[in-house]
Amino acid sequence: MDDDIPYLLLTPGPLTTSRCVKQAMLRDYCTWDDEYHEIVNDIRRRLCDLAGGGPEWTSVLMQGSGTFAVEATVGSCMPPDGKLLVLANGAYGSRIAQIAARLRIPHALLKFSEVEPVDSARVEAELSADGQLTHVAMVHCETTTGIMNPAAEVGELCRRHGKVFILDAMSSFGGIPMNVAEVGAHYVISSANKCIQGVPGFGFVIAHRPTFERTEGWARSLSLDLFDQWREMEQHHGKWRYTSPTHVVRAFAQALVELDAEGGIPARAARYRENHRLLVAGMSELGFRALIAPEHQSPIITAFHYPVDPAFRFNTFYDALKARRFVIYPGKVSQADTFRIGTIGHVFPDDIRDLITAVDQVTRELALRVKPE
Ligand SMILES: *Cc1c(COP(=O)(O)O)cnc(C)c1O
Repeated sequence: MDDDIPYLLLTPGPLTTSRCVKQAMLRDYCTWDDEYHEIVNDIRRRLCDLAGGGPEWTSVLMQGSGTFAVEATVGSCMPPDGKLLVLANGAYGSRIAQIAARLRIPHALLKFSEVEPVDSARVEAELSADGQLTHVAMVHCETTTGIMNPAAEVGELCRRHGKVFILDAMSSFGGIPMNVAEVGAHYVISSANKCIQGVPGFGFVIAHRPTFERTEGWARSLSLDLFDQWREMEQHHGKWRYTSPTHVVRAFAQALVELDAEGGIPARAARYRENHRLLVAGMSELGFRALIAPEHQSPIITAFHYPVDPAFRFNTFYDALKARRFVIYPGKVSQADTFRIGTIGHVFPDDIRDLITAVDQVTRELALRVKPE
C-alpha cells in the first residue's frame, strides 16, 4: 500500500485512489487548446466503449458531484409534457423523486422495501395502469444497502411499454460489467469518483443518441442543461460550457489508463468480488450479519447489522477503526441499525484481510458482544 495514504476509504465515494491518479493533479492545465480537448473527447469515447455502446451511443460530462449529473439528466431529458416513474428501494432512488419534485416534473414514486430488489411485477402493473408515464428511473446498485436492482428486467419492461429508461449506475458503472444495450437503458449515469477510481468533481451520462438528440430546449436549468453541455462538447471538440474541473479530468484520464492496465472492467469486477467475499467471510466469522441476502448483494458496498451488545456505539467503533487506518461508513436504512463497508476503490484483498484483523482487535478491545449467545 502507498505509504502516503494515512487511511483507506472503505466508503462508496469519494474512495481511495492510486498515487498516480493523485499525481496527475500536481500541475495546472490550460483548457482552451486542442491538447486538453483531445483528453476530454478521449474520455468521452472510452466511457461509451466501457458501456459497450455502439455508434448509437454518446456521452457527456457534467461538473459537480454525482447528484448534479442525475439532476441534469432528469431536468434536461424529461419532455415538458412527460411523466416520470421513479422506482425506489433506498435513499438514492428517493433522491430522484426529490429532484423531480423540486423541478416540478410530474412523477409517480413506487416505493419498495429497502432490503428487497425492485419488483418488476409491480413496475409492470404501474406501467400498464398509468398511461401518462413517459420515463422510468431506477438506481442500479442502491448504495443505501448495497442491493442490486434488476436493471435488465426493468429495461425490458420499458422497451415493451415504449418508455425511456434512466439508470443511476453511479456506484456500479466500471465495477460491475454492464452493456447499455442489453440493459435497455437510454441514459446511464455515473461519476468520476466511484468505480473508475478518479477523484470527485464531475459526473457523466452515457446516452442513447437518437433519444438524447430530441431533448434540445427541455432543460429546466442553465448550468445543468445536459443537451447544451453535450452540444458544446460535440461542436467544439471537447469544450465544456463554463470552467471545467481540469485537475479532476486529468486524474480521471489517468484512472482510465489504470483501469485498462488492470485488465478492464472484468478484472476490476473480479477484484471487487474478491474484496467483498473476504469481507463477508471475515465479518461473519467475527459474528457480524449482513443486512442483504447474498443473492441480492452487490460487491460494491455491504451493510452489516450492529452488534447485539447494547454498549455498541458506532462513533467509538468508527474512531477505533480509523486509528487503525480504516474509514468505514454509517448506515442509511430506516428499518435497522447498520453500518456499511465499501469494497471499491484502490483497495485490495490484503487490505480487506487487514481490515478484518482490525475489526477483530477493536471488538476485543471494546469488549463488544457481537452476536447473541
Ligand atoms: C454516490 C451516489 C450518487 C451521487 O452522490 P453524490 O454524493 O452526489 O456524488 C447517486 N446515486 C448513487 C446510487 C450513488 O451511489
